[in-house]
Amino acid sequence: MGTAVGGKGGAGRKGDKPMLYLKKCPKCMGDVYESRDIYQTFLTCAQCGFYLTPEQEAHLRRYGTVETKTAGVKRAGAQRTGS
Ligand SMILES: [Zn+2]
Repeated sequence: MGTAVGGKGGAGRKGDKPMLYLKKCPKCMGDVYESRDIYQTFLTCAQCGFYLTPEQEAHLRRYGTVETKTAGVKRAGAQRTGS
């Protein structure tokens, strides 16, 4: 896990709290929080480290829930969370 911490760039944006969605991880029902790098903002699970797809992210932001599509994704063959 490489967290790029830039020395500059964060020119005092206070009150800009990251969003936190409790128990919204489609994989483990863990807490999903907003994270960002210099390019983009994304949602990731605090428990399993799952990154929401742009679709899931959009759905979560809009409806407050993650649409768990099963198309092409099988629960049985869950990919390992290698770290
Ligand atoms: Zn998770």
